[in-house]
Amino acid sequence: MRRKLVAGNWKMNGTLATNAALLKEILHGLGTLPACDVAVCAPAPYLAQCQQLLDGTAVAWGGQDVSVHEAGAFTGEVSGAMLRDVGCRYVLVGHSERRAYHGETDALVAQKALRAVRAGVVPVVCVGETLAQREAQQTGAIVGGQLDAVLAVLDDADLSNIVLAYEPVWAIGTGKTATPEMAQEVHATLRQRLARRNPETAAQTVILYGGSMKPDNARQLMAMADIDGGLIGGAALKAADFLAIIHAA
Ligand code: PEP
Repeated sequence: MRRKLVAGNWKMNGTLATNAALLKEILHGLGTLPACDVAVCAPAPYLAQCQQLLDGTAVAWGGQDVSVHEAGAFTGEVSGAMLRDVGCRYVLVGHSERRAYHGETDALVAQKALRAVRAGVVPVVCVGETLAQREAQQTGAIVGGQLDAVLAVLDDADLSNIVLAYEPVWAIGTGKTATPEMAQEVHATLRQRLARRNPETAAQTVILYGGSMKPDNARQLMAMADIDGGLIGGAALKAADFLAIIHAA
């Protein structure tokens, strides 16, 4: 049985003051034993704040990107070891905004996933198709190719320490959500593809849905057989919405 995970992606939002208020409200509303795993992925400058405020609580924290390099002269980059050092359990890799605005290729995303997992941080590997690709019936090929790049560099032990997130690009920040059936179809395809490599790992892998998940659609999405939680953007910045999604999981 896979335990659900609800992870917030704060993107480039927040201040010390607003983060503290948001986390206080989330912790207060969560109760002691939430029925699912919970995490927030914060901008790098605020990860130490997350560690300070969340250590010992039911909320884990994570980064939003990791360097493909291990250490050294890579100005501006954050390594997997650094993320681990500030207590990150997770890091997003291959978010569509990084693929689109920073030219991240499937191969680079796979190398980042490898760096994270070898540093002891669980990569949340994001895959998803654009609207044009969906309309051209290419969804399976696109997300399959994105996953295959990761499968090509991770060994079986690494694979048992990743989370996948299906995030249709056309649904991110747009208010458009995949229907539960549309999302389930892609999640099932991803799990089958994982199963070709290792059926046991495939059965255990948490696959999140992301793309305008909100309190009013979270329950139906997460009721689907292969949807194991959510990666939440906009709604993760409002404690009441984030908590409602967590309670729907
Ligand atoms: C995201 O950025 O990962 C995301 C899912 O955003 P939103 O929930 O705002 O669509």
